[in-house]
Amino acid sequence: MKIGFLGLGQMGAGIAANLLRASHQVTLWNRSPSKAKALLDAGATLASNPREVAANSDVVFSMLADDAALLAVLDGDAGLFAGLARGSLHVSLSTIGVATADAVTQRHAERGQGFVSAPVFGRPEAAAAAKLFVVAAGSAADLERLQGLFAVISQRVFVIGEQPSAANLVKLCGNFMILAAIESLGEALALAAGGGVSKQQLVDILTSTLFDAPVYKNYGAILVGEKFRPAGFAAPLGLKDMRLAREAADGVGVSMPVLAILDAHLRETIAREGSDIDWSSIGGLAGLKGRPQT
Ligand code: NAP
Repeated sequence: MKIGFLGLGQMGAGIAANLLRASHQVTLWNRSPSKAKALLDAGATLASNPREVAANSDVVFSMLADDAALLAVLDGDAGLFAGLARGSLHVSLSTIGVATADAVTQRHAERGQGFVSAPVFGRPEAAAAAKLFVVAAGSAADLERLQGLFAVISQRVFVIGEQPSAANLVKLCGNFMILAAIESLGEALALAAGGGVSKQQLVDILTSTLFDAPVYKNYGAILVGEKFRPAGFAAPLGLKDMRLAREAADGVGVSMPVLAILDAHLRETIAREGSDIDWSSIGGLAGLKGRPQT
C-alpha cells in the first residue's frame, strides 16, 4: 500500500520505521527535514510538503505535536487537503482535542476523504518496538482498511466507534489518569523517604501487590531513578493534554478538581525544570513543602 507519513518526532519516527519495515512504500514529510535522514536511508521517499505526501498515498498518517500543528498541515496549496484524493484516508495518531477532531472529520467528509482518529498509548520505546496500544474511531469501512497497518505498529487496537473524536476523549481520560498516578506515586515516595523507607522498596512492594500495573512499574522506575532527561514525553505536551481534558470536561459539564492540581503542578514543574523535562518530573517534585494542601 502507498502510505504517507507527516511528523517524524519521537513517536512518528518509530512508527514510520515500522511501516517501512513491513515493506510498504512510504512517503514522508517533516517540518524539519533533517529528522527524515535515517528513514530515507532505509528506503522512504521525502516529499517537499504535505500535499505531495497526500498525492502519493492511499493512506496518510499524521503524528504531530498538537492541534495547531495538525491544522497547520491541512490547508493551502501545500496542504494535505489539496493532495488527498477522494476516497483516500487520513489517520491522525496525535493526542488532539475533541472539538478539533470533530472539525477535521467534517472538513474531510466535505471533500469525500476519510478521517480516522487513532491516538496511541505507549512512549517512544513502545512506538519503535511496535508495542503501542491504538485507540481508533471512524467508519467501519475505514477501520477495516487500516487493520493490517495498525497490526504493524501496535500490540492491540481498541475500536471505540464511528465518531473519530471519541478516540481522542479516551486518550485524554487515559493521560489524565496516568498523570494522576505519577503525582500520587511521587507523593507516596516522598512520604516514605521522609520517614526513612527506601523508595525502591516501596515501589517493589506496591507493584508486586495491589499496584501491579505498567503505569506504576514504568513510572516507578523513572521516579526512583530520577530519569527525567532526555524527555520521552515532554512536559509541555502533557500540559497540552491537561488543557484538552479540561476543555472536554467543560464541554460536557463535568467537574475534575484533581485535573486542576495536576495542571498547576505541571506548570510549576516546567517553570522549575524547563520545557525539555519529561512530564514524570511532576512526581519528582511531589511532596514539596509549601504547596496548598487542598
Ligand atoms: P515531538 O517529538 O515533539 O514531535 C512533534 C512533531 O510535530 C515533530 O514532527 C514536529 O516537527 C511536528 N510539529 C510541531 N509543530 C508543528 C507545526 N506547527 N507544523 C508542522 N509540524 C509541527 O512529539 P512526540 O512525543 O512525537 O508526540 C507527538 C504526538 O504524540 C503528540 O500529540 C503527543 O501528545 C502524542 N503522544 C506522545 C507520546 C510520547 O510518549 N512521546 C505518547 C503517546 C502520544 P519538527 O520535527 O519540525 O519539530
